[in-house]
Amino acid sequence: MSTEFQARVEPQQLTGDSEITFRCGKDRSCFTQCCRGIDIVLTPYDVIRMKKRLDLASDQFLAIYTTPQLLEKTDLPVPTLKMLDDEEKSCPFVREDGCLIYEDRPASCRYYPVGHATLRPKEAEASENFYFLVKEPHCKGFDDTKWTVDSWRADQGVVEYDEANRPWTDLVVRKRSFPPNLRITKEAKAMYFMACYDLDRFMRFLTESSFTKLYDVSDELLNRVREDEVARLALAVQWLEGVLFKRGPYAVKEDKAAARMEERGKAKKE
Ligand code: SF4
Ligand code: SF4
Repeated sequence: MSTEFQARVEPQQLTGDSEITFRCGKDRSCFTQCCRGIDIVLTPYDVIRMKKRLDLASDQFLAIYTTPQLLEKTDLPVPTLKMLDDEEKSCPFVREDGCLIYEDRPASCRYYPVGHATLRPKEAEASENFYFLVKEPHCKGFDDTKWTVDSWRADQGVVEYDEANRPWTDLVVRKRSFPPNLRITKEAKAMYFMACYDLDRFMRFLTESSFTKLYDVSDELLNRVREDEVARLALAVQWLEGVLFKRGPYAVKEDKAAARMEERGKAKKE
């Protein structure tokens, strides 16, 4: 989350054990100021939580509340929360007494004033998280209430978000490690956006396209991902890994794809 105010990112890198001092609350004179004039990149799990809260299908939520942008250094499309067209560019969910969707607010709102990033050092198999502190002049929350970064994350309920987003984060980090001139096609970007953010449409894709002919997918798995959107996201990311990087259980099986093409060709001639 960043704001149009001059944000100061503290130069030191923090770990989960690093100490911070912070307290936010309705008694702060700056209450809700941080919910205006901001740029919030949504994660897939943010969309799952917010669309459910608002009782919308994923495509409806994306159309009403988000604007697409390209994620820095990855060339991948991401939805950002669309601010209102008022003077302060307010978040559509901010009210005088706080956040209307507080229990389902996005991960970056939960983390604030902690920023986080994920890196995968060259040659390393696993990604590493690190954190940093964002100090903005309007925020009066830096007092003497002590936390560690991890106790702040737990208190703000962000751990569940990070867990659910893990497959997606790993995919984005992998993509970021590719040479910058390696562009992905428009079609691949559209597949990525559907699989990560438009999960209701991805469910239709699973059941109505040739997906089950190309891959071995059990009814049990299909039923599970129909009920559980976090499991659906994990499957969607595995499928993307297969399509984009030719890795994992959904790496395109050339023989099945060729058979499918032949089948289509025959159907057209008939
Ligand atoms: S500006 Fe800082 S202290 Fe004020 S409401 Fe936002 S997070 Fe809390
Ligand atoms: S979603 Fe809620 S917490 Fe986040 S910016 Fe909007 S009003 Fe503030």
